[in-house]
Amino acid sequence: MTKMIYPGQTIGIIGGGQLGRMMAVAAKEAGYKIAVLEPTMDSPCGQVADICIVAPYDDEAALEELSEVSDVITYEFENIDYEGLKRLTEIAYVPQGAELVRITQNRVTEKAAIVEAGCPVAPYVVADTYEQLCESINQIGFPCIVKTARGGYDGKGQQLLKGSEDLPLAKSLFEHSQCIAEGFVPFTKEISVIVQRNGQGETYCLPVGENIHVNHILHETIVPARISNDTAALAEEAAMKIADHLKLVGTLAVELFVLEDGNIVINECAPRPHNSGHYSMEACNISQFTQHIRAVCGWPLRKPRLWAPSIMVNVLGQHVVALTNSISKYPDWSVHLYGKAEAKVNRKMGHVTIMTDDLDLTLQQIEDSGIWSE
Ligand code: AMP
Repeated sequence: MTKMIYPGQTIGIIGGGQLGRMMAVAAKEAGYKIAVLEPTMDSPCGQVADICIVAPYDDEAALEELSEVSDVITYEFENIDYEGLKRLTEIAYVPQGAELVRITQNRVTEKAAIVEAGCPVAPYVVADTYEQLCESINQIGFPCIVKTARGGYDGKGQQLLKGSEDLPLAKSLFEHSQCIAEGFVPFTKEISVIVQRNGQGETYCLPVGENIHVNHILHETIVPARISNDTAALAEEAAMKIADHLKLVGTLAVELFVLEDGNIVINECAPRPHNSGHYSMEACNISQFTQHIRAVCGWPLRKPRLWAPSIMVNVLGQHVVALTNSISKYPDWSVHLYGKAEAKVNRKMGHVTIMTDDLDLTLQQIEDSGIWSE
């Protein structure tokens, strides 16, 4: 059942990080109140919320409290406890449901869902134990990548195996969870599509972004992706098919590989706004956060349009000083900092979006500024 949630009502967000913060700011622009559940004090979202419930994400009493103060509940990350979220759906209005989280928080169920939706993935095998991996690895061959089914992100919980002599390197991954091994995809580019859908089935994709990773962490997103129109259409079509298959409400970020011949392979999905969609805050007529809030509040969605080609660059802990020094030099840079107290190395502290007609010049300015360094 889809409900309309009106300004003045309260949106509850599970998770107090930067994604929650940017959702909250978008919602507050329309006059909503925000309640956030987050275990740490002074979190990025807590700083802008009306109500902060400081407790672990799976704390039953805290989830109940969140449901009491909220008219609708959403979440900003997928590793929430599925059982807890499921119980929450029984006592609160959670239009995204719990199934999407159950499916996407495990690579095994996620890959199966992508295949069921009729979209291409890399050849893969599932292994419960290291011994099973050794027995089945020949079905996909080498090089391949072994990934823990649960809990991995930014390249954590993954091991590249170049040949059978590397197999022992994957042994420790099984201490964490079941694993999948997938064929290494010789991609020419990594791209992503943010697809958003409301309870009435209205579905739109943001323009396809081209993602450049450094040390497994997203470094920058270039929009539009430098790919052919045919490849962009394939990517959007796949994202829409997956969204439809999962009966998505809210946001799904679909990460894809582009092959030499222009075809695509789906890597993974995240059921939330995504780092690679941050550019939309300035560069589109609707940001991924505003669209997400519209979707969970039962509003009609807006067809996204890109105002200008753009680059989004992540600001990690080691880049904050360089960014601060750049503010007075580059008036065209839209600076976002998330209010995190400690600038640790590789911690996402903020991002910058730059709309540009001269990609090479802008890339050079980014490099000169020092926010490019590793
Ligand atoms: P993931 O956590 O699955 O997003 O993987 C992190 C990064 O590892 C991706 O952005 C790719 O650069 C790389 N990667 C993951 N899976 C594959 C694959 N099957 N083939 C080649 N590179 C991969």
